[in-house]
Amino acid sequence: MTVNKTGYYTHADCRKHEMGEGHPECPARLDAIEDRLLASGVGDALERREAPRAALGDLQLAHDRLHIAALRGMELEVAEQVQAGGSPYAHLDADTAMNLHTWEAAQRAAGAAIAATDAVLAGELENAFCAIRPPGHHACKAQAMGFCFINNVAVAARYALERHGLSRVAVVDFDVHHGNGTEDVLAGDDRVLMVSIFQTGLYPFNGEAPRGDNMVNVPVPAYTRGPQVRELIEAQWLPRLEAFRPQLILISAGFDAHREDELGQLGLVEQDYAWITGRIRDIARRHCEGRIVSCLEGGYNTSALARSVEAHLRVLADL
Ligand SMILES: [Zn+2]
Repeated sequence: MTVNKTGYYTHADCRKHEMGEGHPECPARLDAIEDRLLASGVGDALERREAPRAALGDLQLAHDRLHIAALRGMELEVAEQVQAGGSPYAHLDADTAMNLHTWEAAQRAAGAAIAATDAVLAGELENAFCAIRPPGHHACKAQAMGFCFINNVAVAARYALERHGLSRVAVVDFDVHHGNGTEDVLAGDDRVLMVSIFQTGLYPFNGEAPRGDNMVNVPVPAYTRGPQVRELIEAQWLPRLEAFRPQLILISAGFDAHREDELGQLGLVEQDYAWITGRIRDIARRHCEGRIVSCLEGGYNTSALARSVEAHLRVLADL
């Protein structure tokens, strides 16, 4: 039996997390996506589901207990600060801060990835997209960084392996920044193959040397455009993914490699995201009945982000 439904997971609390005036990782990103899906009619073709909260035990599949405890402690700290008339933010690093809603949003974001994994593995949906904030791929086992607190994709990968008993999960990361957090959690775990492409000389300033044999890191210089990116993906990702025969594919779907995005200097456009999504979908259909769970990571030009998500979803939903 084949299902062709595409799920769309989100939660209103993912909008309430914000890190201050002018911060690029802002609630308006989700609004732009929603508007675009509504205006284009693509939203009508998706099965919309509310993201549940992730269980703490599931977050610990990818993170140290103390990391989770520290985030919960920070939430209380912000609450006390606010009550005392102080700042509504607690800064974890120069560009990563928690407000009163961050912990709730982070649990919903990881919960979306987990629930989507359950639904796809149960055969209720062929694939799913999680429109979530905060993003996750810089969050390490024991450290929040780069706008990320909990690594949604790494949690979902471990959840699929440990709770569903899968033995081969692929992770695909096409965000302009290296997914150092996902690599930190999953490097050396032979049940996972991670393929990524990212701009060199850019935050988090690493990834050129993969940390495990299960990591296929493709660093590219600034100003690389779509045709070269497609060639590199054909040559370096696809043979490894084919040979791996994944039972599930998770995508760290960052759209900040778009030509119009100012946080990176790569030259992808909507058609490139459609092409990449198509190649991943083909592999998923050949090896695992199309099972893909895609999670939003970066993408900071809200117009380019919304157009790119639409292109991504049109391919996932066969529109
Ligand atoms: Zn990014």
